[in-house]
Amino acid sequence: MIELEEHPILKKGWELYQDLLDFFFPPLCLSCDERLLPDEEYYCGICYGDFEYMPRPVCAVCGAPLGSRVIEKDTCPDCPPKPIYFDLARAPLLYDGPVVPGVIALKFNHRLEMAEYFSRILFYYIKTEMKDEAFDAIVPVPLHFKRYLKRGYNQAEEMGRFLSKNLGMPLLPEVMKRIRNTPPQTRLEHSRRKKNVAGAFEVFYPDPIKDRHIILLDDVYTTGSTLNAAASALKSAGASKVTALALCRAIKAP
Ligand SMILES: [Zn+2]
Ligand SMILES: [Zn+2]
Repeated sequence: MIELEEHPILKKGWELYQDLLDFFFPPLCLSCDERLLPDEEYYCGICYGDFEYMPRPVCAVCGAPLGSRVIEKDTCPDCPPKPIYFDLARAPLLYDGPVVPGVIALKFNHRLEMAEYFSRILFYYIKTEMKDEAFDAIVPVPLHFKRYLKRGYNQAEEMGRFLSKNLGMPLLPEVMKRIRNTPPQTRLEHSRRKKNVAGAFEVFYPDPIKDRHIILLDDVYTTGSTLNAAASALKSAGASKVTALALCRAIKAP
C-alpha cells in the first residue's frame, strides 16, 4: 500500500486539498471565532495567552488553589470528604476562559484532535511540576458503556493515548470499568455527589496495576468525588499510589 505522505504526487495533492479547505473554510479560534494565522493552532494568540494556569500555592492533597488561605491540617476545605484514596490530585489549568470551549469541543463535538493538543499541556506539566514522581501507567477514568456508545469515545482515554506515547508508559483503559451509569456530577448537589459515585467503578484486570503508581486521568476535576471513587477501586485492586491528574479544575462557586 502506498503511504500517502511518502508519495510525492499524492502528497502535493493532499497539500493542495488542505489549502483549498483552509481557503473556503478558514480555521477559526475555538474561543473567539477570529480567523487563525498560519502558525496558530485551534486558538488565536490572544486566547492562547489567556489560558488560566493554576495559581500557586495549591493544597498538597487535592491541588486546589489556596490563595491567601493558610491550612493547618494536611487537607484543605476543598478536599473531597474523607477517606481520600488518591495520594494527590493536580490539574495544570483552571476550568475557565478559553480552555472551556476546547474541552467542550473535545467532549461533545467529536473534536478529537483537541486530545493531542491538551495532552501536550499535561505532558509539559508532568515533566516540569511532577518530575519527581515515578509513574508506571495511565488509567483513564472510564465512561459507562452506555455513555461510551453514545459518544463513541472517551475523551480522557483519547488524551491518555498521546500522553502514554510521549511518556513511554502503558495506557490501561481496560483494567477498570464504570459499572453504574451515574448522572453527571454537575447536575447534583454537593452532598449527593459522593453517594452518587460510591462503588461506581470496578477493576476487572488488577495485574497491570498491582504495586504500580498510576496516573488516573480525567478531563475536568469537579469536586474530586469521581476521581476519589475511581482511586478507591484502583487502591482496592492493589495500586500502590494513585495520582489523579485532570487537564483542568472547576472553580468552586462562590
Ligand atoms: Zn481567540
Ligand atoms: Zn485540598
